Amino acid sequence: MSEYVKARELAEQARETEWARPSFAKQLFLGNFRLELVHPAPALDEAQTKRGEEFVRALRRFLDHRVDPALIERTARIPDEVVKGLAALGAFGITIEEEYGGLGLPHLYYSRALILVGSYSPALAAMLSAHQSIGVPQPLKLFGTPEQKREFLPRCARGEISAFLLTEPDVGSDPARLATTATRDGDDYVLDGVKLWTTNGVVADLLVVMARTGGKISAFVVDARAEGVTVRRRNAFMGLRGIENGVTEFSGVRVPARNLIGREGQGLKIALTTLNTGRLSLPATCAGGAKWAVKIAREWCNARVQWGRRVGEHEAVARKLAFVAATAYALEAVVDLSSRMADDESYDIRIEAALAKLFASEMAWQVGDELVQIRGGRGYETAESLAARGERGVPAEQILRDLRINRIFEGSTEIMHLLIAREAVDAHLSVAGELVSPDASRQERARALKRASRFYARWLPTLVAGTGNLPASYGAFGPLARHLRYVERTSRKLARCTFYGMSRWQAGLEHKQGFLGRIVDIGAELFAMTATCVRAEEDSRDLGRRPLELADTFCGQSRLRVDALFARLWDNTDSQDARLARYLLDGRYTFLEEGILDPSIEGPWIGAPSGGENVHRPIP
Ligand SMILES: Cc1cc2nc3c(=O)[nH]c(=O)nc-3n(C[C@H](O)[C@H](O)[C@H](O)COP(=O)(O)OP(=O)(O)OC[C@H]3O[C@@H](n4cnc5c(N)ncnc54)[C@H](O)[C@@H]3O)c2cc1C
Repeated sequence: MSEYVKARELAEQARETEWARPSFAKQLFLGNFRLELVHPAPALDEAQTKRGEEFVRALRRFLDHRVDPALIERTARIPDEVVKGLAALGAFGITIEEEYGGLGLPHLYYSRALILVGSYSPALAAMLSAHQSIGVPQPLKLFGTPEQKREFLPRCARGEISAFLLTEPDVGSDPARLATTATRDGDDYVLDGVKLWTTNGVVADLLVVMARTGGKISAFVVDARAEGVTVRRRNAFMGLRGIENGVTEFSGVRVPARNLIGREGQGLKIALTTLNTGRLSLPATCAGGAKWAVKIAREWCNARVQWGRRVGEHEAVARKLAFVAATAYALEAVVDLSSRMADDESYDIRIEAALAKLFASEMAWQVGDELVQIRGGRGYETAESLAARGERGVPAEQILRDLRINRIFEGSTEIMHLLIAREAVDAHLSVAGELVSPDASRQERARALKRASRFYARWLPTLVAGTGNLPASYGAFGPLARHLRYVERTSRKLARCTFYGMSRWQAGLEHKQGFLGRIVDIGAELFAMTATCVRAEEDSRDLGRRPLELADTFCGQSRLRVDALFARLWDNTDSQDARLARYLLDGRYTFLEEGILDPSIEGPWIGAPSGGENVHRPIP
């Protein structure tokens, strides 16, 4: 079996295939725009709202008075007092149930807390979210035994920091080659291996470790102080300078068998399920960054005058302002809706969370880039340097550096495209699977053809017309109704295009990453438009026309992106690009590299540190 097939099969086994609860986004990809699933957006009860608001207010006060984000950036370290203060507020156990010592707040307020922290210090937001969204609390909440919850959740809620360790030097997007082993020995497992890029790992008390038990991957809670655990290095990055990210080595580490999460072999499923809601934390920090960009862009564009006008009045800059503001509104709407759906628990939000992560990380990066451009030379200058020469120390270049990683970790954009596309074409695969499978026999194909014909004979006609074709539909949304009609029509068009792609390339579709990526990006825009309209309709009850203006502009911009994506589904240079990339890999164009000098430091492309002191530094 090829490496590729092995990796794909492993990912497939870890995938949840059941859809017991309704999924708005899955239906969207099938051409079935079910607005009633998300409008009105699920609401919280008054008591939860009151407690949530109180917590966010207390957090805001703490950040404002006790946290210096410039110090975190300058020293590349979050002071211990900040960690302790956050722990005292309950910020390490926001969603952990009260019976385990947490605040037991709904996901919506976890997201709002991360929007707030993300706007102020993205490194601090990364610490809180790595601990709560992928560290020990979330997998235990979903898969832990009552004993495990009683043992570990109170520690997590108190502020013992946790980290999630999947990545290894040779294992990134594709966990099939995971090399860390957990060998059963009596009442223990013995762990050996190296984990890379462990956010929080340098200061962690508890670790979730993915390791191979026989041929399968399993998940364990490991005490970071256990004998044989060594943090070999603290890594430094382009952004998020304050994060405590390391390389952790396991050498004969004994872990009690009772610390196995779920069953042996369930590790990847646990990791993926954890991320179903865990993935919402990055969109929240992205929305925080984008909202901050709105404030800076507005203040700066009013203050700066060039060519006799405020710079925000020059059309080229005005367009950027409109993009920054409309996108920030949309990102918050996506986070708000997805979080409410997560709290409601009657939805399956795995696709929404993945779309939110993909969309927010890509769009926030563009917002950060536009902010730097709007600030001109000052956008490129560090906050410290600006302040040192007597100007306001605005960290625009920092937000750009800090935001960049969101497109890479917790599922890179390329992997999110594949993961979501897999769900989008799932309906087709389940009816036409054997038809497109290269291994199917003639009989199997004949049976599949019959089944598929029956399905498509019923399904395709439903994609021809719908409520989006009726000029009066979605009237309750006022000026936004036309955008919802567009979403409805476009959802059907998206399903038709997915079907055409499926019939055209059949089993080869999984390699058509350009096509699949665009299908997914269109779905993400449609979801964002829906969330934005839903939020604006609600907000307009208190705020009048203003949210409608933002939503209208966002939808206008989004529709242009969608139209361009549709055009490029069929008219693109994908095949030509793939051919050129192959030639490039084969060395055909090395002449292009003449006349340059490579400043890289010599070393292997992939390696692991060995020896050196233990830099593990748990916070007392
Ligand atoms: C600051 C930081 C913090 C991190 N925190 C953690 C953490 O706490 N815990 C943890 O376990 N990991 C963590 N990571 C690791 C992170 O999740 C990985 O970097 C990420 O999953 C990508 O893996 P990789 O870097 O090995 O890229 P690779 O897998 O080597 O990929 C390289 C490129 O190829 C693309 N690619 C790979 N496979 C495919 C494919 N099949 N189709 C199309 N494109 C593909 C990728 O998108 C990427 O662009 C962190 C990384 C960083 C930098």
